[in-house]
Amino acid sequence: MKQKARILVVDDDPNLRKTLADILRIKGYEIAVAANGAEAIAAAEHETFSLALIDLILPDLPGLEVMTRIKALSPLTESIILTGNASMDTAIEATRQGAYSYLLKPYQMDDLLRNIQHGVERQQAQEEILRLASFPRLTPIPVIEVNSSGEVTYANPAAENPFPDLNAMGLSHPFLKGLPGFNELRQSKQQADVISEVEVGQATYELHTHYIPGLDLIRIYGLDITQRKLAEKEIHLLATTDSLTGIANRREFATIMAGEVGRAKRYGAPLSLAMYDLDYFKRVNDTFGHDVGDYVLQAITALVKENIRTTDVVARWGGEEFMVLMPQTGLPAARNAADKLRLAIAGHCFDKVNKLTVSLGVVSFEPQDDLNSLLKRVDDALYRAKEHGRNCVETLACEVNLKSASEPFSGKVA
Ligand code: GH3
Ligand code: MG
Ligand code: MG
Repeated sequence: MKQKARILVVDDDPNLRKTLADILRIKGYEIAVAANGAEAIAAAEHETFSLALIDLILPDLPGLEVMTRIKALSPLTESIILTGNASMDTAIEATRQGAYSYLLKPYQMDDLLRNIQHGVERQQAQEEILRLASFPRLTPIPVIEVNSSGEVTYANPAAENPFPDLNAMGLSHPFLKGLPGFNELRQSKQQADVISEVEVGQATYELHTHYIPGLDLIRIYGLDITQRKLAEKEIHLLATTDSLTGIANRREFATIMAGEVGRAKRYGAPLSLAMYDLDYFKRVNDTFGHDVGDYVLQAITALVKENIRTTDVVARWGGEEFMVLMPQTGLPAARNAADKLRLAIAGHCFDKVNKLTVSLGVVSFEPQDDLNSLLKRVDDALYRAKEHGRNCVETLACEVNLKSASEPFSGKVA
């Protein structure tokens, strides 16, 4: 909201002072009055005026000195000098010392009002220029301007730290080079706003790139969004990992697995899945307490991570049920990998608990499979491993395949 312009009326004639103040208030200005130079200076020390109307002859100080003292306090305040003691020399001297204008008593009220209006407008324009000029210089947001030949024409102090050597490097600066939409903006000269992100050291900046038609410049603003990116990462981590073991959680695993199943379907690449469950884990909790149970889940996870390939994905599927997805792996290799895990765990000595085993089910993707059929089959395979006495690996193929495998080969090729 724009404030009312404030005007200081300095005149020792009480009637004139009051008349002027009343008229100017009606015209929408805010008015303060002073009967002499000292009062005027005290008022200017107290608040900032758009304009001062100053009688040239005051009881204590010359009007021009009052004007100079007010200017020293607030350089943008305009002054209009009023006097009955006319001389061209005084007028010239007043404007030379910085008065906006000079009016002779008796003046036409219209003249005075027009002078005041223009003086106030000039003061407000100057204030606006200063405000705009200080904005890019003082803002903590990096601001960079580039002309149509790709030279950096301006970089504010906030841009120097994250983007050093901008002025020297211009468009060859790595940060400007890869800036999406930059060349399009240069060529099209459309006033579009292209938003991109760049990582500068540890920080991430969101860059807004606009074309400024009147200046034929591209202006780039960076906002530091490092904190937001960190928070997003944190939220993503919480949403995708299991807090006890730090590995993928069920939802994340299902997402990864859906992607791998899709790939296996499209390209026929081998894909295997192992599921393992701790044997008699309830006893561990019952005997040693829940905390020891938690430690066991962590220790087994560490063992498994040590014994799988970097391309395999291990995830916590449920309480003490885990999955290992093995891309580019057929059933025999997956079975071996699962047995390696089984032996690593069975051979480990767990603090307090000593020995523990796991049972594993292993299946491989087959053409008629989808995500759910694979999950169902691996669960069935694990169930069989439990039934077969635990601490073992069971594989399970599709029923269709089992059937065709059990049928004698007819010798015909379909
Ligand atoms: P089985 O060989 O048939 O798998 O026997 P089990 O005792 O392992 O199976 P059961 O399903 O009876 O028990 C699983 C136990 O796992 C029960 C549950 O309290 C425990 N459990 C599940 N999640 C956690 C966990 O996060 N921490 C701990 N400490 N225990 C858990
Ligand atoms: Mg169990
Ligand atoms: Mg279980």
